[in-house]
Formats: sequence, structure tokens, C-alpha cells
Amino acid sequence: MSAVIEQSSLRLLFVSTPVGSLGSGEGGGVELTLLNTVQVLAGRGYRVTVLAPLGSEVPNAQVIGVEGQGQVPAQTQTRITPIVMPPQSVLANLWQCAHAMQSDYDLIVNFAYDWLPFFLTPFFHTPVAHLVSMGSLTDAMDAAIAAVAHRYPARIGVYTRTQAETFAFADRCVLLGSGLDLSRYDFCETPDAGLAWLGRISPEKGLEDAVAAAEATELPLKILGRIQDSDYFEQIQRQFPQAPIEYLGFLPTAEMQAVLRRCRALLVTSRWVEAFGNVLIEALACGVPVIAYRRGGPAEIVRHGETGWLVEPDSVAGLIKGIQTLSHIDRWACRSQAEAEFSLEALGDRTEAWFTTLLHHK
Ligand code: UDP
Repeated sequence: MSAVIEQSSLRLLFVSTPVGSLGSGEGGGVELTLLNTVQVLAGRGYRVTVLAPLGSEVPNAQVIGVEGQGQVPAQTQTRITPIVMPPQSVLANLWQCAHAMQSDYDLIVNFAYDWLPFFLTPFFHTPVAHLVSMGSLTDAMDAAIAAVAHRYPARIGVYTRTQAETFAFADRCVLLGSGLDLSRYDFCETPDAGLAWLGRISPEKGLEDAVAAAEATELPLKILGRIQDSDYFEQIQRQFPQAPIEYLGFLPTAEMQAVLRRCRALLVTSRWVEAFGNVLIEALACGVPVIAYRRGGPAEIVRHGETGWLVEPDSVAGLIKGIQTLSHIDRWACRSQAEAEFSLEALGDRTEAWFTTLLHHK
């Protein structure tokens, strides 16, 4: 107990993803994870400062906006893609600021899936911990993360076991899961007829399978999220001209959940090993069952037959069967799972335990 009280006076510096400003959606789920972590820790008395690309907004914390050009998202790269940094890199600028400010903080937490912060870790006298938001993608990143994992105990936090197991150093990762402010998500007992699909519109998310399932079942599909690859989205629309889809754009949480909660199910069709899938727990929080491919983080979240269906990966027929058997799923069970496993408090407890462990090894 005393360790926790002492710890809550820690001064924390969070360094955000350099892919886009917080609130843009370019950073995907890690944006929400950062905001939720700030919210719960600030509520517990920590002093949190966030360094983030210019234009970022973070309630509950001081934000220092940093200029520069964004990084290319790592999920667009192949295994052998080398490390690339643009001129006037916001990533470099963020870490230059972090280095200059480090004496004012007890712990720095990196939220970027980028090489530079891992490489720089030994050059900081303030400990740097890393929230790794994706599984293994490139050889260069694997090596950079592995170097930190082996040199410093407990510095690498990940979302799920499945994600950790994509790395050779899985046993050196701390599992953090994710969590939400459940009061921002309203339960809806009687949905409309439609389905939902949420996320960055990018090939690794497999949107075309959800559209194919909507076409086959003739149920409207609401699509929400940042378009990261417009050619890909146009190709899907050409491939399924008759599909009953509606694209609503990228909406802030309040508006997004107002749409999501009225849907019969969320379809999760990822082709890659999804590290977690914040959209799944957002759906569960609204009482919306999840039909997901049995792959990556979603396979650790959905309780098959209770809060949704886990179906054979890449099987549109499996999605369709899941949609047709949705009446077996109790929407209250979905909300209850979110309350039991994915509350802000649960996220806060796991994060505090992580900080205690890693600072103990300092
Ligand atoms: N999201 C949102 N508004 C939208 C659609 C999506 O805020 O209209 C957010 C959603 O809350 C989630 C993120 O986009 O936090 C997607 O994250 P997820 O973990 O599902 O996947 P990632 O993009 O990290 O691969």
C-alpha cells in the first residue's frame, strides 16, 4: 500500500506516437490507450505531461505540442524495410524535447512503435518504458525492441499474450491489456438492424470481408474510422457496388459510441495479428456483441458464445453464420465483461503495477 501512495507522486512524461496528432485517428488504438492511461493516473494523483505532435489535445494533463513531419505508419512496411525518418521529423523533435526535459521526471513512457526511442533508451538517465502497441512487423524494429527487453527488466509493456508471442522475447514483456472510461459508453438493449465495422481503413484490417458479409446478409453496415489508404477503400466500393454500406467518417468517442451502440454486432476482420483491438472493448461496453476472426488480441477478448463469436480467420461464411446466430448472445453479458475486465480502474491497477516493477529494477 505504501508503495502505491509514494508512487502516485511520480512525475510522468508520456511521449506520444509521431504518426499523427492525438485525436486525428492516424495513430489508431494507441491514441485512446494513451488518453485513458493519462485519465486514470491523473485521477490517482500522478502528475502527467504529454509530449505529442502539434494539435494534440489531452484532457487531464499538460500537453506540449511539438512540430515536425509525421512518421509513416509501421504497419505499411515489409519485414526488411529499413528505418526511415523524414526531414524535420516530429519523432526526432519529440525525443530531443524528452531528452532536454528528463531531469524533471521520474519516468518517461514511450507510446511510439518506432526505432528511435528504443535506440535512445540507454542514453537517458531517467528510465524510459515502452508501450509496444503492435506485434512484430519488421526485423529492424524487432532488434531495437529486443535490445531494450534484454537489457532492462520490465521496460516493455504490451497489450496481450498473443501480441507478445510474435516476438522472440515474449517472456520479457509485461501484459497490460487495455481499459476504458465505461461512463462514456452507454448500454443499448434494443439495437437497430445494422452491423458496425470500426477502425483505420487500411488493408491489414480486412474491411472487404465485413462488406461481403453485409452484402450476403443484406444487413446495413456502418463503417467508421480514419481512411489511411483511399485506393484500398475505393477498390472495396468497386468490388461490392450493391453492398448496403454507409461510411460515417472518423467520429469522436461520444458520437462514435452513439452509432455503435445501436448496432446488432461489431465485425472484426483483421488479417494481421491485432495486438489488442480497442474497438472490441468499446463495443462490449455498449452491450454490442463482437464477431471476430480467431486471431490476435480479439481471440483473447471475445468470450465465444457468450459475448460474441470467434470465427475461422478469413472466413466470410463464418462471419455470416455468426451474424445469423446473434440471438444467442445476451447484450448485458457484453457490458458485464467490459465492466469486469476492461474498466479504467483495471487499466490503472495494471499500469501502476508495471511502473512499480520496472522502477524497482531501475
Ligand atoms: N475510432 C474512433 N472513431 C471512429 C472510429 C475509430 O475514435 O470513428 C478509434 C477507436 O476508438 C479505437 C481506434 O480508433 O481507439 C482503433 O483502434 P484499434 O485498437 O481497434 O486498432 P488499431 O488502429 O490500433 O490497429
